[in-house]
Amino acid sequence: MTSHTTGPDRCDRCDSIESTNPTAEPLVVGEIGQEPVCHLCRRDELSEETILSESEALVVALKELGDLPHSTIAKQFGLAKSTVDEYNRRADNKLALAKQTVETLNSSVTSASE
Ligand SMILES: [Zn+2]
Repeated sequence: MTSHTTGPDRCDRCDSIESTNPTAEPLVVGEIGQEPVCHLCRRDELSEETILSESEALVVALKELGDLPHSTIAKQFGLAKSTVDEYNRRADNKLALAKQTVETLNSSVTSASE
């Protein structure tokens, strides 16, 4: 028996259990706030709530929940590392742009009320 007990291993939302079975597609469970969430739930959430594509959201979710290096993500999900790099780069750009937009909106609201 291998026991790795760092962090949660069951998703609170869909009840999936973390899987590191090398023959199956891995499931990564991590914490968002205090809530254990799997990378699939987080991916769906990100792709619904942000402008990220599903693939970009997958990479962001995996990095967030499992703190996985790009080479590990690539190997586990059958992608080229350059593809993972590219998804991550696009996601970073989109999220930075979205943040900037929010900040611009906030500052224009503030200055309008002055
Ligand atoms: Zn889940």
